Amino acid sequence: MLYFFPVSPILFLNIKAYPRAGLKYQVKTNIMPLHLPFGLRDGRLHSITEVKRGRACGCICPACREPLVAKKGRHYAHHFAHLRGGACAYGLETALHLKAKEIFEKARCIAVPPVYLHRQQKALFPAQLIRFDKVKVEHHLGGAIPDLILESGPKRMLLEIGVTHPVPEQKAWRLRQLGISALEVDVIPLVRSLNLEFNDPGFGHALGHGLVHGLACKRWLFHTKKQKVEYRLRQEAAVRPVRHRYFKGYHSYIVADCPLHKRRWRSGFREGQSYALLWQDCLYCPRCLEVAYSMETVGFRATPQEPREVRCWGHLPLPQAPGWAGSV
Ligand code: SF4
Ligand SMILES: [Zn+2]
Repeated sequence: MLYFFPVSPILFLNIKAYPRAGLKYQVKTNIMPLHLPFGLRDGRLHSITEVKRGRACGCICPACREPLVAKKGRHYAHHFAHLRGGACAYGLETALHLKAKEIFEKARCIAVPPVYLHRQQKALFPAQLIRFDKVKVEHHLGGAIPDLILESGPKRMLLEIGVTHPVPEQKAWRLRQLGISALEVDVIPLVRSLNLEFNDPGFGHALGHGLVHGLACKRWLFHTKKQKVEYRLRQEAAVRPVRHRYFKGYHSYIVADCPLHKRRWRSGFREGQSYALLWQDCLYCPRCLEVAYSMETVGFRATPQEPREVRCWGHLPLPQAPGWAGSV
């Protein structure tokens, strides 16, 4: 039998002698799911364990609608392949999108990771379980097509299922423009962490549990409430000028009146007053929003020269969301 791999299969498959269930070899598929784990039949996704072997499976590819064969041999992990051979660019991606829709439609809830403000270690919102009523797949919204839209009454959340690559920056930007919270779920690390074969009876359940309740493979692409809080902080932040100081052969950049009292003058006419050193304190300070530089055109490019001011919110209390508020 012929198998086509983009590179040597030895790189992807970890084959071990394993006598269980009459199989000569146990194939570990925790490296990367290159093959289709699901096929489409009668409008429903079927896993490789639910169908007969070969062409009798009666499934088609969810992306290109070409007939599939169920490969349930002894040597390689069970999977679907296109009858006519060759690779299908979107088969795995579309299958996982549809599977995710099926899982979320059934579960009607999703655990979302905590939300942190810029440079903060205390979460604005803790991890939460969010409930919704409706799921839409690849629905046009503004200028973008998010993979899934989860709806609960007037509230909406976008879900991007990363399969072959993370969400491209251009698409992430378009999703941000919509002003709706968007979450990315990275399926490949999730499938790897399950450490199960496609033909394992627990694969479907474990995948569903990981998608709904797992947090490690999820990250916020955009969060409306976080953005609002950060925008308010930006409006209320103080602009503190940076002053160059040359003392006893050493150059330093000083920010006067540091609200966090990072350092204090020990002598001189400023004795007792607080200050901060730009490179040692402000650059690593969790309350620093940005450092602005004076610009100069060098050649044809505007190039930052000297630090001019620091925008910081050290004088403001740490924002806290009300305990009862949902993160979406
Ligand atoms: S950014 Fe931090 S260290 Fe710098 S002045 Fe503001 S509070 Fe102080
Ligand atoms: Zn296909």
